[in-house]
Amino acid sequence: MLAQRTLKTLTRAVGVGLHSGQRVEITLRPAPPDTGIVFRRVDLPEPIDIVVSTLAVTDTRMASTISNGDVKVHTIEHLMSACAGLGLDNLYVDITAEEVPILDGSAASFVFLLQSAGIVMQSAPRRFIRLLEPVEVRQGLGDNVKWARLAPYHGYQLSFEIDFSHPAVDSTGQRVLFDMSTGSYSKDIARARTFGFTKDVEMMRANGLALGGGLDNAIVMDDYKVLNAGGLRYDDEFVKHKILDAMGDLYVVGKPLLASYSAFRSGHALNNLLLRELLNQPQAWDVVTFDNEKLAPSGFAQLARAW
Ligand SMILES: [Zn+2]
Repeated sequence: MLAQRTLKTLTRAVGVGLHSGQRVEITLRPAPPDTGIVFRRVDLPEPIDIVVSTLAVTDTRMASTISNGDVKVHTIEHLMSACAGLGLDNLYVDITAEEVPILDGSAASFVFLLQSAGIVMQSAPRRFIRLLEPVEVRQGLGDNVKWARLAPYHGYQLSFEIDFSHPAVDSTGQRVLFDMSTGSYSKDIARARTFGFTKDVEMMRANGLALGGGLDNAIVMDDYKVLNAGGLRYDDEFVKHKILDAMGDLYVVGKPLLASYSAFRSGHALNNLLLRELLNQPQAWDVVTFDNEKLAPSGFAQLARAW
């Protein structure tokens, strides 16, 4: 059986929120089968849980925010991406503030934390959402068009294309295809950092955003070039970060997808809209398990071997 997974033991990290600049501690803890990923605000007088789901995502302007009533957690996407990349189904995330720490701006620190704690199999089958028909969302016209699409595929593959008119971005790869069957998420995708432009930073800070952002947790560019002394981690780090984000944005659906995702200039908002469209079209997908691991797509079976 291809089984659900959780952590072997708990692990902790301390950092600052990218937008709030607030100090925050997260504790990642094992959770029983079929729990999913649950954030728990432990700084409130009574702890409040927010169960990650497509409809729990209530704001996608700068990052993905989930809510339960007035209680929020911002910027969940990089931790969610690490969980998707490592095939982690069940996890409690105790958090002491309103925003997940940005750490190094990528998912690499979360991958390290989760792998250090260890990942164990559980006694319940892993349930996948299998696409049966394509589902697509599209916004804008002409130069402003953006779209995202899920189509049937025996495995999980993501193809992303960006189109920034900025010399430092345009000189790098604009398109990336990543397939889970390579087993190379940690090496090829997880290290890609978030990025921003100095001209936007002033405006964002005036609006109380990016207060924790800087050269140690983002790629920062002026009008011409990358300002980070160490340059880029990958030649095509920008578009790889968009794949990293998409994996996190899509994992909020609560189950791994068996699908081919493709997107042009998509982001947190359109990715969440794509999931809502998927849920609106129940004929376009079903839920499957694999009693025989050998019948599962290779990337998922490889993950099962790793621990
Ligand atoms: Zn991101």
